[in-house]
Amino acid sequence: MAGAKQYAKPLAQLITELSKLPGIGGKSAQRLAFHILALEDREAMALAEAISEAKKNMKYCSVCGNLTDVDPCTYCSDESRDPSVICVVETPRDVSAVERIREFHGMYHVLHGAISPMDGIGPEDINLKSLILRLQDERVKEVILATNPNIEGEATAMYISRLIKPAGIKVSRIAHGIPVGGDLEYADEVTLAKALEGRKEL
Ligand SMILES: [Zn+2]
Repeated sequence: MAGAKQYAKPLAQLITELSKLPGIGGKSAQRLAFHILALEDREAMALAEAISEAKKNMKYCSVCGNLTDVDPCTYCSDESRDPSVICVVETPRDVSAVERIREFHGMYHVLHGAISPMDGIGPEDINLKSLILRLQDERVKEVILATNPNIEGEATAMYISRLIKPAGIKVSRIAHGIPVGGDLEYADEVTLAKALEGRKEL
């Protein structure tokens, strides 16, 4: 990486790894690396250990695909949640976003992406088969498609809608209010709550 060359190897290595993180450019990576090296040993080790433990212990829920340390995840095994409605999102971060508004008490399904022919991502490349399997559960009455309001998210919502409507399950799409091209994850809570509440049947 440019800029890391003048540093001793262990430091250059740390900068290189940090610069691979999203949103971290060369300058930020250098700043973070110096910050980490200035930490007390135990603080730096706690950071390294947190990364290692999270990586070791977090997995994807075998039911919904959400990130979890127990399988099935706490949402899937929570009997107080409503099994009649499944909210379909693109990423585990979107589950957290919907949870934050505290208005949704149904189940989730994480696709881990969206259909994007331009990028060669088809329906078989996302976590869709397991959703179809879940719909065989007669308790499921509605699927809310909460994919992002961008081209890929819309295409994915349309695809899933066409796929599952013949099964007689109500399919709805979150309302706009979330800016087109926007990310569910970054929507403020009021906007997201309104979008969920104002969902339209497809
Ligand atoms: Zn789950």
